[in-house]
Amino acid sequence: MPTTSDDCIFCKIIAGELPARIVREDERTVAFMDIAPATYGHTLVVPRNHAQDLLEIPAEDLEAVVRAGRAVAGRVKERLGADGVNLINSCGSAAWQTVFHFHLHVIPRYADDPLKL
Ligand code: 5GP
Ligand code: ZN
Repeated sequence: MPTTSDDCIFCKIIAGELPARIVREDERTVAFMDIAPATYGHTLVVPRNHAQDLLEIPAEDLEAVVRAGRAVAGRVKERLGADGVNLINSCGSAAWQTVFHFHLHVIPRYADDPLKL
């Protein structure tokens, strides 16, 4: 069983207690569509085990999330025709982290998209 935190929305998604469009799963990670996508195909990759942020997540889970993020990035390029991909993590509220369960944003980029990052 993964370690969880009460009142964590991503733990609830992982446990199937909140709905999400899950696009990839493995032993250590789950990837699902962001509820407010920055671009078409914006996906979040999270560890099954609850960890607050980049400084708290154990190395094995971080490595698994990065591997999964790369797999999702390859998939969005291939299947959605993205021209590029941003992988982003925000650590701490000063860095605009809003959900305190570590997550990697996989943001597909299109040559003509208006997103400014
Ligand atoms: P942060 O701001 O912490 O880097 O990113 C949190 C992300 O989680 C945001 O992009 C936000 O849209 C997404 N998010 C927040 N609540 C939910 C939810 O209930 N379901 C899904 N799928 N995404 C969520
Ligand atoms: Zn959590």
